Amino acid sequence: MEELNQTEERIEREPYDVIVIGAGAAGMMAAGTAARQGKRVLLLEKMEKSGRKVRISGKGRCNVTNARPAEEFLEHVRVNREFLTQAFSEFNNRATIRFFERQGVKLDIERGERVFPRSGKAWDIANALLEYCVDNGVKILYETRVTGIITLGDRVFGVRYRNKRGFERKEECSKVILTTGGVSYPATGSTGDGYAFAADLGHTIEPLRPSLTPLKTTHAQMKFLHGLLLRNVRATLYVDGEAVREEFGEIGFSERGIEGAVALRVSRDAVDALIDGKTVKLTLDLKSALDEETLRARIARETAEMEPTEFFSELLRRLVPKPLVMPLARELDIHSKQYISKLTEAEISRLIKTLKGLTFPISDYAPFEYAVTTAGGVRCSEVNPYTMESLKVKGLYMAGEVLDLDANTGGYNLQIAFSTGRLAGLLKD
Ligand SMILES: Cc1cc2nc3c(=O)[nH]c(=O)nc-3n(C[C@H](O)[C@H](O)[C@H](O)COP(=O)(O)OP(=O)(O)OC[C@H]3O[C@@H](n4cnc5c(N)ncnc54)[C@H](O)[C@@H]3O)c2cc1C
Repeated sequence: MEELNQTEERIEREPYDVIVIGAGAAGMMAAGTAARQGKRVLLLEKMEKSGRKVRISGKGRCNVTNARPAEEFLEHVRVNREFLTQAFSEFNNRATIRFFERQGVKLDIERGERVFPRSGKAWDIANALLEYCVDNGVKILYETRVTGIITLGDRVFGVRYRNKRGFERKEECSKVILTTGGVSYPATGSTGDGYAFAADLGHTIEPLRPSLTPLKTTHAQMKFLHGLLLRNVRATLYVDGEAVREEFGEIGFSERGIEGAVALRVSRDAVDALIDGKTVKLTLDLKSALDEETLRARIARETAEMEPTEFFSELLRRLVPKPLVMPLARELDIHSKQYISKLTEAEISRLIKTLKGLTFPISDYAPFEYAVTTAGGVRCSEVNPYTMESLKVKGLYMAGEVLDLDANTGGYNLQIAFSTGRLAGLLKD
């Protein structure tokens, strides 16, 4: 209690140069950067701990950035690429790698140029960001929820917050960096407060949608596929019958829906199309390395090696992973115990067509609770791309997922947070 009183007195006595709202990836980068430049920084975090989302990122391993060259990197950013270019050139993926290595975190580059901590622990990334703040003198208050940004005319004047004992407080400050994140995985603390603050101050919020989220299907066999993970699949997303996106890699099935890197990467387009009332389907080429003729020859070879009285399920077993055998037989409407010698040409053609294009009608998508990122957010044209300062409110800076920026899986989203957080933390006029 005494400690808390001292903290509150300290806030009253010492003015801060900048208040950062939200100790996530962007907020910690921004706060540490400002403090390193000699600014007095107050970082307010509503959860009991910093960087909760970072700590669970990359399935607990944290895909901290992606090492691709700049042009290729930016191709993975789904919207407002040009806006991001300034922040990215100020602090790019190479700078992120150097930053964490200087903070003592060894990194490795894996398949797809994805960068992970060698320890395999996302906590090392979150702790390195926290240390960067603490070592540079950032004052952090946890369990402190900002409830509003105060302005005087068109300038920032401070923030209102509820402290850990539930009391409303006010802190005056002429600069505020808003890094409250999006609305995905709200249990990590990102519940969209920043959108409300920005909207109150006259900013436009582009419609929020879950992105990198599992897709729901009405496919009758879906419930039998839960737990299945398929590798080397080529997936094509069709919107109103037209192929709009193709991806290659892993696909998984669970009670949440169709997921895995491939499904997540196509999900942004699928979600937008569903919202627009369009018809969406996903086809999976399970034999992407073989064209139809080669696949036909392969099936002929397999059947030639088998006894004529062996079952169709055994042929399937030679072609696909076991959990897919029965669902595929039902999908093809061929009895699993049919003798292979009795398979007709039409049935073989149907098998080939299905292996090359197993089709899932997409009816819905998993909600924000399961989405890796939020698409939409504060309209980027209302923010100065050279500074991250609001063009509507002087002294208000924004960074990270609260902005209308989102990208593919692969380390791009955290890099967006680091690049924009760094630039905001420089507090350029
Ligand atoms: C499961 C999962 C895995 C992911 N894996 C990866 C990955 O491997 N690689 C990658 O690049 N991206 C990944 N992402 C995405 C990435 O984590 C986010 O894009 C990134 O964390 C966004 O950073 P941010 O700082 O903008 O927001 P956040 O990290 O969400 O931080 C926002 C912070 O603000 C705080 N806050 C919110 N409102 C208030 C308030 N009113 N007052 C005070 N504090 C407040 C929150 O508690 C939170 O700490 C993953 C996301 C999820 C959900």
